Amino acid sequence: MTSTALPTTDDLRARARAALGNIGVDVAEGGGFPARTPLTGEHLFGLTAATEADTEDAVAASCAAFLIWRTTPAPRRGELVRRLGELLREHKGDLADLVTIEAGKIRSEALGEIQEMIDICDFAVGLSRQLYGRTIASERPGHRLAETWHPLGVVAVISAFNFPAAVWSWNTAVALVCGDTVIWKPSERTPLISLACDHLLARAAEEVGAPRDVHRLLLGDRAVGERLVDDRRIALVSATGSTRMGREVGPRVAARFGRSLLELGGNNAAIVTPSADLDLAVQGIVFAAAGTAGQRCTTLRRLIVHRDIADTLIERLTAAYERLPIGNPFDDTTLVGPLISTTALDTMHSALARVRAQGGKILAGGNRRLAEAAPAAAYTEPVLVHVGEQTDVVREETFAPILYVLAYDTLDEAIALHNDVPQGLSSSIFTRDQREAEVFLSAAGSDCGIANVNIGTSGAEIGGAFGGEKDTGGGRESGSDAWKSYMRSATNTINYSTGLPLAQGVSFL
Ligand code: NAD
Repeated sequence: MTSTALPTTDDLRARARAALGNIGVDVAEGGGFPARTPLTGEHLFGLTAATEADTEDAVAASCAAFLIWRTTPAPRRGELVRRLGELLREHKGDLADLVTIEAGKIRSEALGEIQEMIDICDFAVGLSRQLYGRTIASERPGHRLAETWHPLGVVAVISAFNFPAAVWSWNTAVALVCGDTVIWKPSERTPLISLACDHLLARAAEEVGAPRDVHRLLLGDRAVGERLVDDRRIALVSATGSTRMGREVGPRVAARFGRSLLELGGNNAAIVTPSADLDLAVQGIVFAAAGTAGQRCTTLRRLIVHRDIADTLIERLTAAYERLPIGNPFDDTTLVGPLISTTALDTMHSALARVRAQGGKILAGGNRRLAEAAPAAAYTEPVLVHVGEQTDVVREETFAPILYVLAYDTLDEAIALHNDVPQGLSSSIFTRDQREAEVFLSAAGSDCGIANVNIGTSGAEIGGAFGGEKDTGGGRESGSDAWKSYMRSATNTINYSTGLPLAQGVSFL
């Protein structure tokens, strides 16, 4: 199914301008840094990228602001984030418009992305009164041991196109209450939503009396990111994107003994066992595999299904794939919007050609859509592919809606297949058998940072820590105790006795 006609680039430009205007951003045009839309694949505005001097200025200003911000009481820092959350609520519709225009998300997912930002602000405000350190039993009489958490410094946030605003907010809301200042280098594909977020945070800062430079935005391509990566004044580089990017960023930050938090690619799988509720499984699988046009780091890319139910499940999935409405993401009936670019579509086609050559069989989907109406855009049917084994292409992350289906005979075999990929982000099992579920969640089960039962791999809540193992980079963001990555701990030993007993019974003097 193809949903209603696409908007024109002029319509989209006007809609973006209106949304930015409502938020208070005046787009300064005429620069050579393009803002584009995947809805038509065309150019919207010419913006200006940050120069080397802009980067230097941002880092210096951010370091200076840190000196004030680090001693501002954490609950007062929380007031800034609370105000940001209010502004996000007020401008939810405008911000969602920008997410759709720049990242191509369907309306409900774009609104969901902004809701996630509001949720993390609420979480961070609460956190601003809960940055707890522990008191530890000392082995010496008259002594107290304590763990104290201090702000870390300047945090660089480098983000990807597919969550152009939420990933920023996970990092920024938490970093700000932790007493850090933030420099944001967003994806080069999503500058407009970044301008909007930066503007709202600047407004919140002004209204609550926080230093303007607690947050700086630097538009630009990877070269801007690289400057931040190499700058010793940046205490933490939180980088979200491909494993390729992480492989470059991680060692460079480590070489200067900086800290990095890496949120990289996934190759997420779901196991469907014979006892699974198939109605629920079909719903969960289709959302996780085809939602966001397969462009979530947590997108379901591999389905490992028990041989006895494989035919039934494939039949039901094929029927669901054939009914997916594809097209204009502003149309409420659309479920699959465009890929980010025609390059992404080419990458998808080359993965499909490779998997076919390796014996894979296309079960449903895979045709390009709307090529005549929008030749520079990349609309495609999500694809279901049967594969006999987990070949090299199946073990890679192709950032497009391809779902590989594999059959298994024993749960041990399913878990081995599941874990036999380089990435380790998200995973799930559909089962009504408690033993199977618990094995999957145990130390001998899924090796991912996220392991779910009876829901798909995507669509995490902000309350839990988010991130993955192996080639996914090992970072944790968002909820739980992920805040500790944005602070440094100090161990304090306080002697309130009149003697000086040494630890481990050592005597001296
Ligand atoms: P990308 O790696 O192309 O770019 C991500 C960001 O890194 C951009 O801002 C880019 O300019 C910057 N960058 C690239 N190379 C750099 C370098 N050498 N030094 C400094 N900065 C550099 O990723 P993308 O195409 O925007 O996003 C898709 C990828 O992101 C997928 O692999 C997806 O799985 C991953 N992703 C992961 C998560 C997660 O939380 N694990 C979340 C969203 C996206």
